[in-house]
Formats: sequence, structure tokens, C-alpha cells
Amino acid sequence: MKQLPSHLYKAYFFDLDGTVYLGDEPLPGAVSTVRALKDAGALVRYLSNNPTRTPREYAEKLTRFGIPTVDDDVITTIQTTIWWLKNNHPNAVVFPIAEAPLIDALTRAGFRISDDASQIDVVIASYDRAFTYAKLQIAFDALFVDKRAILIQTNPDRYCPFPGGRGEPDAGAITAAIEVSSGVKCTANMGKPSPSLLQAALDGTGISPSDCLMTGDRLATDIQMAIDAGMDAAVVFTGETQASDMGDGFAGVFRLGSLVDLMCE
Ligand SMILES: [Mg+2]
Repeated sequence: MKQLPSHLYKAYFFDLDGTVYLGDEPLPGAVSTVRALKDAGALVRYLSNNPTRTPREYAEKLTRFGIPTVDDDVITTIQTTIWWLKNNHPNAVVFPIAEAPLIDALTRAGFRISDDASQIDVVIASYDRAFTYAKLQIAFDALFVDKRAILIQTNPDRYCPFPGGRGEPDAGAITAAIEVSSGVKCTANMGKPSPSLLQAALDGTGISPSDCLMTGDRLATDIQMAIDAGMDAAVVFTGETQASDMGDGFAGVFRLGSLVDLMCE
């Protein structure tokens, strides 16, 4: 018979890649854990640094795995980038080094996109698998030659993990190329560990960070964000972090399945 832990948080935030699934397979115990938490009445949201898929694509993937999910349950750096630009540079001409989901969202939000370096106000470094020397040149010209643009990034991740220890260079690699060539530092980060994804997730809920648990696989992003926000955090060892990375005195969830094991004892 299902037995809930003695303490339930009001809200549970989950990273996706390496936490709920790896590639196209849900991780052991992930689906049953999330379903149990939702059945118990907790608010569940998914926070991803990855701007190469729309929230709808993520929601459809989770629903396919057996976790019914709507678009608004998923917060990515697409939403936080648009929110930040609207609040800080509402009339900016932008140059996104990015894939279609972010470019489409910028267009829908009314931002003018230009590859004319003399017109660009904000260069956005993102996860772009069509990154070219020509794009790097435009960013270089906007930042170093014309000296009028600022550089921001969707997320700082060095690489996106794939099954079998593989991966793809992520936005952090593109930011680094721009920073090294132009000498201009990135001034704003829209993804974990900045608090922007958490702020978007908590907005309008009335729930305080101390009533939430953040679960993720990366210490430098998922876990750092939670710590900075005053939120409890659990690390899973199904993605980047391994048990050997943890110091003495660590107590956490080793895989999502172990949480549901507790709940089902
Ligand atoms: Mg992850």
C-alpha cells in the first residue's frame, strides 16, 4: 500500500535531461515518482535550460512517457529569455545564435531580428547546432567593431548529455567562442543557475522557495540555483553528477526510483 513520506513539499521542480529521462527513455522510477507526487496534490513543474525544443514538445514527450503534462508545466530558457528582454531591453534589435524554437518565440514576441552588426543591440548566444564562422563574425562585429551590443546567453551548459557518455556542445561553448574572440563578457544568463527559471515557475503560485524541492543531475546548475534561492535540493546520479563527486555529510536522492520506493513501502 502506498505510504507517503512524512513531509511533502508544496512544489517539486525537476530538471529533465539526466533527471527524468536520458535521450528518449525515462529513467528508472522517474515516471512513478512524478505521478505519485502529482496524485498527492503537489505542484510539479519541469525546468530545462535547453532552448532547442518548445515547451509543447517537452510536454508531449512527458505525456508519451505516462506523465500527463501541459505546455505551462514546462519552463525553459525560451520563456525566460523573452521575459528578460521584455523587462530590460523591450525595443532591442537582437541577433540570436539559436535554433528555430527561440527564433520563432522572439519573432512572436515582437523583437526585430537582424544580422546587420551595426543594428544589433543584443547578441544572444544559445544552443545552436547550425553555428557557423559567419555567425561568429557577426557577433564579433556587433560587440568588438561596432561596440554597441551586449552579449547574453540562454544557458551556460558546456554540453548536453546523451546516453552512453556522449553529448553535444551546448550554449556555453558558443558563449566562450564569442567572449574569447570579442573580448566582451556575457552579462546575463537566462538559465540555471540564475534564478530566472525558478522565478517563472513560482510566479503567481504564492508558494515560497522554502516549500519547494528542486531535483536535478548537475551541481553547478540545478543544485546551485536551488541553494541560491534558499530551496531544498536533491541530486540524482543518473546524469552528470556521480556519487564520488559528493562530499561528506551528503544526504539526497540517488535516483528518482528511490524516492518512490520510500513512498511505496
Ligand atoms: Mg540535466
